[in-house]
Amino acid sequence: MSWQQIIGHEHQLRVLRTALGADRLAHAYLFAGPEGSGKETVAFELAKILNCRNSHDQPGEGSCGVCESCRQTDRLLHPNVEYLFPVEAALLESSDPSKKENKKLIEAKERYEALIEEKLRNPFFTPAMERSMGILTEQVLMLQQKAALAPRDGGKKVFIISQAERLHPTAANKLLKLLEEPPAHVIFVLVSSRPESVLPTIRSRCQTLSFARPKPAEIEFWMSQRAPQLDQNERRFIASLARGNLCNALELIEAQTGAGTAPAVVGIRNQAIDYLRNILTPSKFHEAITTCEEMSKNLSRPEQIIFLDSLLLFFQDVTRRSIDSAFPELNNPDLSDSTNRFVKGFPGKDLYRASTVIEEAMRSLERNASILLVMAGMTAELRGILGKR
Ligand SMILES: [Zn+2]
Repeated sequence: MSWQQIIGHEHQLRVLRTALGADRLAHAYLFAGPEGSGKETVAFELAKILNCRNSHDQPGEGSCGVCESCRQTDRLLHPNVEYLFPVEAALLESSDPSKKENKKLIEAKERYEALIEEKLRNPFFTPAMERSMGILTEQVLMLQQKAALAPRDGGKKVFIISQAERLHPTAANKLLKLLEEPPAHVIFVLVSSRPESVLPTIRSRCQTLSFARPKPAEIEFWMSQRAPQLDQNERRFIASLARGNLCNALELIEAQTGAGTAPAVVGIRNQAIDYLRNILTPSKFHEAITTCEEMSKNLSRPEQIIFLDSLLLFFQDVTRRSIDSAFPELNNPDLSDSTNRFVKGFPGKDLYRASTVIEEAMRSLERNASILLVMAGMTAELRGILGKR
């Protein structure tokens, strides 16, 4: 990934490029911004540029992406680049001769490796071990030792600390010491989606760069390159569904383009729209109930969420078209006619209330409630709100 491959964030990239060009990078940054906005990919690009073997040949262009150093950074294996995220204490315990302890360590390592794999597959993913108490003191002590050594191959050491708000208090104090007397060859990039929870003493030692969610048009443009097989309507719908979260966007692209047997994302949306039609047609209401049963059997939990979210996006389109009958930027451009028919056929329906009912159902599913109960309840409520009287 070079500067050109970063999605959005023009202003932030300009700040970093200017600082790089003038050789005036701060020794510590705090990249703040919502989950999935891609701020961590910018941190990795900075690490790559500072270590790329060809970056001097193309000033301002970013890293070359192909030299040994760039490839090592991409694989999270560069000796100058450290990546910290919340891990379990078991991972850091020095190996104990007793078998039981070894087993714990091996299992923790497996869980850690699985997260690294996921991160390599999806660079927008934010890894954290489930049983973690946060970023631990031992992890920062390790950084301290590495900071004392000179970087390899004339590059710079870049320490990327993901989810900096989860630094354990003792670890935060150790890090503060490092930030107070930073070695000249080290650049710290703290990354956080909750910067207000980062210790103020740490925050004050960092230059904060705030990132926003990429715009739907930026996500659509990226998709046109990443998955050219998707048509414009599919790109628009997936960008809407991702709501500016690139981690989700990548998952959705893969679900839509994957060769697996699971129904593609747009297929799930079509099921959701058919279900809505059945709710609205009294003679077909029983089919809506059948859909609830099928959905609980055939769709995974994330797919069930896509189903419900599709209804929300459709209602959003209906609301926009009821205010402006020529509204152009629909979430579902291919359903423009259906959207207009809904506006005409069901005037004055309380779509806000209908959307609230769906959002409540989504929250219940996230809390692992029974899908069948949730869907049956939601279906009855939607019929009450939207049905003809
Ligand atoms: Zn390179």
